[in-house]
Amino acid sequence: RQIKCDVVVVGAGPAGSMTAKWAAKNGVDVVLIEKRQEIGSPVRCGEGISKAWLDEVGIEVDPKWIARDVRGAKFVSPTGFTYFIDEKNAGNEVGWVVDRVFFDKALAKDAAKAGAKILLKTAATGLIWKDGKVAGVKAISNGEEIEILADAVVGADGYESQIGRWAGIDTSLKPNDILTCYQYRLTNIKYDSDYCEFVLGSAAPGGYVWVFPKTDDTANVGLGVLTTLIKNPGDPKMYLDKFIAETPGLKDGQPLECVAGAVSVCAPLDSVCIDHVILVGDAARQIDPITGGGISNSCIAGMFAGKALAKAKETGDYTMNTFQEYEANWRDRLENKLWRNWMAKEKLVTLDDATLDSLVKTISEVGVKKLSVRNLLAVVKEKHPDLVKEFEDLI
Ligand code: FAD
Repeated sequence: RQIKCDVVVVGAGPAGSMTAKWAAKNGVDVVLIEKRQEIGSPVRCGEGISKAWLDEVGIEVDPKWIARDVRGAKFVSPTGFTYFIDEKNAGNEVGWVVDRVFFDKALAKDAAKAGAKILLKTAATGLIWKDGKVAGVKAISNGEEIEILADAVVGADGYESQIGRWAGIDTSLKPNDILTCYQYRLTNIKYDSDYCEFVLGSAAPGGYVWVFPKTDDTANVGLGVLTTLIKNPGDPKMYLDKFIAETPGLKDGQPLECVAGAVSVCAPLDSVCIDHVILVGDAARQIDPITGGGISNSCIAGMFAGKALAKAKETGDYTMNTFQEYEANWRDRLENKLWRNWMAKEKLVTLDDATLDSLVKTISEVGVKKLSVRNLLAVVKEKHPDLVKEFEDLI
């Protein structure tokens, strides 16, 4: 069976749905395929987001996908020194812990409303090439082999992306640019459910532990460990179990779900497009290398990709001539930040517990009113300039 469309988007996560929405609402005939049977599930995410970017990409807030409206963040140093950033008291817009099961569906609904067709249980298995150019994807849809012929293929297929590899775009990652994560949805816990908590140091080598509140007694408790610092495959789970066992409010917690996954924490790629192929979101390695957060960047890049595809439809040119606009826009918006945070991460992973301890204390003494990596680094630049001298211009 063959299906014809202008653009086939592979993967209905935030990146894919946003790309599909912004392309479809500008007249592009889009088919959005998702290998899973349910969009947004199972969840492989801490679900923490800031609010500031939602308007920019046209996401309408729906209380249905908000699990928790937090007051700010809490940083815990390796010896247990805690620094609170109470953003709400400072009058800032803070962040939410969302329900990805509903959030991802809301984005897919928007794509559908804009005109995109969605195929579930449909996994891309390869690219279709015609005269040396990509002309669509082969897929297995509900057990049936199908071909989706399209002028452009969007790889929004997440961290394990295959579209990039099949298209010959180098998205390979070095082990020191990968965080291996493990997370529980932990219930029956006693904790401060008004703050997103970040625990630094050897509790999670090369990464951090997060406790992101879902309800008064339930949170996403997870960690990421830099892959080069893992000796055995079970280490991330072992570190998390140890952290939970040693934390008074968490030790009686019981898991409702567990997930393992990975995030890229690399510098921005040189190129995420070729003629007729665009990569977006985790597939394009657009995750923030210091926080490991990727939802906002996926949505922002997805919007730019969708707009570039609309331009391609208008001009009939689905080559780099048009896709250059996507490259320029996402880089304009995100690239400096990704470079700065990658360099900061490179430095951070070399610091021992004692240095991290003094960093958290310094930041607490100076005080930060609004939580952002940039604001935190600005304090470090002022007080420990040696730690950021390689990238001080980017702060
Ligand atoms: P995904 O959400 O991964 O979506 C890709 C989709 O493509 C999936 O639905 C997949 O099933 C589908 N797919 C893959 N291959 C195929 C195929 N061949 N055919 C069809 N469909 C396919 N980010 C944050 O902002 N905040 C957090 O708190 C946070 N916590 C995280 C915790 C963990 C443990 C992990 C692993 C990640 C976390 N992230 C977080 C990162 C965030 O989850 C991702 O950046 C975000 O989901 C990226 O969106 P995406 O659309 O690019 O990819």
